Amino acid sequence: MIRRHALRRILTWVAGFVVLGFRELWAEAPAASEAEGAGEGPWYGMGIDVEKCIGCGLCMQACKTENDVPAEPHFVRTWVEQYVTQTDGTVAVTTIRPGEEREATPERNVLHSFFVPKLCNHCANPPCVQVCPVGATFTTKDGVVLVDSKRCIGCGYCIQACPYGARYLHPVTKVADKCTFCYHRIEKGLLPACVEVCPTQARVFGDLRSPASPLRRMRRMHKTFVLKAALNTEPKVFYSGIDGEVR
Ligand code: SF4
Ligand code: SF4
Repeated sequence: MIRRHALRRILTWVAGFVVLGFRELWAEAPAASEAEGAGEGPWYGMGIDVEKCIGCGLCMQACKTENDVPAEPHFVRTWVEQYVTQTDGTVAVTTIRPGEEREATPERNVLHSFFVPKLCNHCANPPCVQVCPVGATFTTKDGVVLVDSKRCIGCGYCIQACPYGARYLHPVTKVADKCTFCYHRIEKGLLPACVEVCPTQARVFGDLRSPASPLRRMRRMHKTFVLKAALNTEPKVFYSGIDGEVR
């Protein structure tokens, strides 16, 4: 019965994606979401300046090491996509994975190229939390979406429900896994590993409720966007320097 209910929710999200997702795949981020303005205490998010990302992949490596992500390249908590607009007008999107060789597009064919780091958006209105039949996926009081590995039954509903492809089933533990903003680090006042190692400061992390945080500063200084805004998931990963090609 519970599973049927969860399945219905997944179908609703899929329908929402089909109807709305193609209409507006990205949109300028609102100044403050309802949840951001409502509570007290920190409300964490991340900012990514696409113009600063050089696609070096150090963030992906650091994440794997810090969080014991399985070594195979297709298991990732964060990844980087390269968007290449070619002289014939086509846009090629390649996912860069740690340890994988990349095939470069010949320079003479490239009009424009940039890198977009991706991860769980720690949505303020997360479909993955809504579909979990056992309450294993939840949002902390500071706005971080986590998985309780002891409660997770590995049904995979959350993996299907996430419109950003941010989750995978861990091959050893058989539970859902994804980015936690390195919760074990931020609880101690440290930065997430990917932010710490980025050599160009393309990633910033901070409290969306604190005007002094680097993330709020970034959002004041740049126009920022969220991915698939029309789905109303209220992502808390904000991008500057992206355009309509990014999904
Ligand atoms: Fe859930 Fe996906 Fe949003 Fe992360 S990006 S909170 S996994 S719906
Ligand atoms: Fe919840 Fe785990 Fe199932 Fe995901 S895989 S829906 S976290 S029980």
